[in-house]
Amino acid sequence: MKYTMKIYSQEVEKLIITEPKNRLIENVLGLGEESGEVLGKIKKLIRDKNFSKGEIIKELGDCLYYVTAIANALGSNLQEVADENMAKLKDRKKRDVIQGSGDNR
Ligand SMILES: [Mg+2]
Repeated sequence: MKYTMKIYSQEVEKLIITEPKNRLIENVLGLGEESGEVLGKIKKLIRDKNFSKGEIIKELGDCLYYVTAIANALGSNLQEVADENMAKLKDRKKRDVIQGSGDNR
């Protein structure tokens, strides 16, 4: 099955098991954990020359799950996150500030 961002967001919501009062912090901690797992796969690629695209894709999917869960918890959705992010990046590119640092450049 191919998931649109809307359907994916709805399916993520059906999988949330954390009680509502702890949901946001659990989702944020989950994103941190899964981000670390991506880092671990890349570390092993550098250290052991052991590259597994499939394993990295699985961990990126876990990150996507938590990004989506957080967006949902905030009353947003994955589509809005993607749209806002692309608008920000295209604006930075247009103004030639895609490099550098700072959230609001
Ligand atoms: Mg994982």
